[in-house]
Amino acid sequence: MDFRFTEEEEAFRKEVRDFIQEVLQEVLPSDWQGVDPGPEEEAREEVYQLAVEIWRKLAAKGWIGLGWPKEYGGQEDLAKDWILKEELIYRGVPGMDMAVVQGDLILQFGTEEQKRRFIPPIAHGEVKYAIGMSEPNVGSELFALQLRAVEEADCFVLNGQKTWTTGFQHADWCVLYARTDPNAPKKSLGISVFLIDPKSPGITMRQITQMTGLAPFYEVFYDNVRVPKENLLGEKNGGRAIAMYAFGIERSYGLVVLHNARRYFEQLVQYCKETYTNGQPLAKDPVIRNRLAEMAIEIEVGRNLGDRLNWMTSQEILTVLPSCQIKVHGANVAQRVASLGMQILGPYGQLDEKSKWAKLGGRMKHTYLSSVALSMAGGTSEISRNIIAGRFGLGLPS
Ligand SMILES: Cc1cc2nc3c(=O)[nH]c(=O)nc-3n(C[C@H](O)[C@H](O)[C@H](O)COP(=O)(O)OP(=O)(O)OC[C@H]3O[C@@H](n4cnc5c(N)ncnc54)[C@H](O)[C@@H]3O)c2cc1C
Repeated sequence: MDFRFTEEEEAFRKEVRDFIQEVLQEVLPSDWQGVDPGPEEEAREEVYQLAVEIWRKLAAKGWIGLGWPKEYGGQEDLAKDWILKEELIYRGVPGMDMAVVQGDLILQFGTEEQKRRFIPPIAHGEVKYAIGMSEPNVGSELFALQLRAVEEADCFVLNGQKTWTTGFQHADWCVLYARTDPNAPKKSLGISVFLIDPKSPGITMRQITQMTGLAPFYEVFYDNVRVPKENLLGEKNGGRAIAMYAFGIERSYGLVVLHNARRYFEQLVQYCKETYTNGQPLAKDPVIRNRLAEMAIEIEVGRNLGDRLNWMTSQEILTVLPSCQIKVHGANVAQRVASLGMQILGPYGQLDEKSKWAKLGGRMKHTYLSSVALSMAGGTSEISRNIIAGRFGLGLPS
């Protein structure tokens, strides 16, 4: 067993680190503390603008969709794709985008015409995507969704509501799951997936604010929205396979979460080395040392799970089990790092980023609050545990 990256991959990692250094000097503010990856923090307009700028720089380097086939602008190199993501996330550089994930779906299920139409704008860093799965009464049980799509001569007509649609305000496209056959023998067999233009007539949205104070989500209302037939992704009523594929990708997001938590953890370790109580560095306190060491082990376990998941993906081995494992573990680690951080910082941990007394840029408060959502977003940890307990893992009867 060889856990090392190749020389070429290590050289690419160095190139990415140099790129990040350049971005830190030229684009990001000098007191940059890092942000969480993805669209949540992009609800702050200043972060969104930075993300767009960096996303375009990544596109100029040809680094968007590195794992994609060469004919669609990729390099067919999954290892490089992961190295790039890992480094950007770990350094808290904004710009990682959901468009790539939705591009994966289009490459997997789209027609040739759709691939030619939708993939290049993603690779060129020109478009943003949102995901329209959840509804007010539909989350874990996606196949119970009710938003209706009725076929007419030249289009499908959509009526219904979605919720928790993250980043809808910036999206150029939304991958939307809708019911096309209400009489199908099984609920999962009556669903289709569409590529929707969020600016279409009949779409309205209402912002939802999180406990972090950010407002990344939208309730989205579809009132007689007409979608051209060529925007149907995959077969009509064939949405189940697309959803199952998308769930796998979303669960592997646990690894993204883990690398983000790693940054907070290392900042915390540094804080313990530099902070003195009663003339002693915090780092000499045996309780703190033990808790930090315990956390370091959990992070390392997560990195190994992640490397295995990436390797299995590159070998096209079924990844249901490792993606569920990393989903649960990544969220657990992020929540534990945040909780440990709040304990170590004591009353300073609760202070806002704007407070002059805030430690570590006030980011521990943010991650403590935002990490709560990590065991829900992209499918809950409970559902992943159920899958691990069932036929893909322990084989327990459901
Ligand atoms: C930060 C964030 C971003 C999101 N972004 C998007 C987005 O962009 N697009 C989108 O469509 N959705 C989005 N969501 C919604 C997300 O996909 C759902 O929250 C998730 O699928 C869970 O669904 P639910 O919230 O309806 O919870 P429910 O399914 O109602 O579950 C509620 C609780 O019951 C538990 N539970 C449910 N079923 C079981 C079971 N079988 N066994 C054990 N426990 C169970 C759950 O674990 C949970 O604790 C986002 C959510 C968050 C938190």
